[in-house]
Amino acid sequence: MTSARDRARERFGARCGYCGVSDVDIGSTLTVDHHRPRSRDGRDDDENLVYACPRCNEHKGSYWHEDHPPHVPLLHPGRDELARHLREGTDGRLQGLTTEGTFFIEKLRLNRAPLVAHRIQLRAAATQREALDAARTRVRELEQRISRMRSDFDSTVEEIQRHTSSKR
Ligand SMILES: [Zn+2]
Repeated sequence: MTSARDRARERFGARCGYCGVSDVDIGSTLTVDHHRPRSRDGRDDDENLVYACPRCNEHKGSYWHEDHPPHVPLLHPGRDELARHLREGTDGRLQGLTTEGTFFIEKLRLNRAPLVAHRIQLRAAATQREALDAARTRVRELEQRISRMRSDFDSTVEEIQRHTSSKR
């Protein structure tokens, strides 16, 4: 039987549902957050559990919107489509697109320096991968061209040989 934590880990692809860092990124398994806190009758149901890194879990704490004006609900990464509420800028910082999105970023401090640095690294890695893919494609094209030239050359040599031997 799998534990609730293992199931949460699997549902969230071994990544923090709030900030997106993975087990591998931080070199450890993450924690499990009760989206609706236990102190507010949040249950241990899978649906209420979010796989979360220790820092996001700490920033979220036992937040429940009903207790805090202006009562903005915290987005649930398993239920809400985060991409509709926030986007990543080219500088690696998240920007809120909605009130909930802006609140989510502020509450969980999703623009903390190490996270922004992590996003910039991911962007740089993606750019490098694209450049590498483009270079590989170019190499393949050149190899094909060389092989075509070689076979053209071979057939030319054959033709010359045929020509020369017929003249003898
Ligand atoms: Zn996190």
